[in-house]
Amino acid sequence: MTSSRPIHTVCPHCKRPVVALREQQRARCAEHGIVVPMRSVVANAPVPPPLQQQPTPVT
Ligand SMILES: [Zn+2]
Repeated sequence: MTSSRPIHTVCPHCKRPVVALREQQRARCAEHGIVVPMRSVVANAPVPPPLQQQPTPVT
């Protein structure tokens, strides 16, 4: 009944959700690369996609 704090597989460094393969003990964090994931609540939102930077006009 209480599913307000679901447990996810997260990066141990930034606590962001990562995708881990079932039979592997490694996952890929967008910020930290290959990490050993841990099961915990998600403390941070996933890394947003990089914003496209506007080209700086040369004056
Ligand atoms: Zn991380």
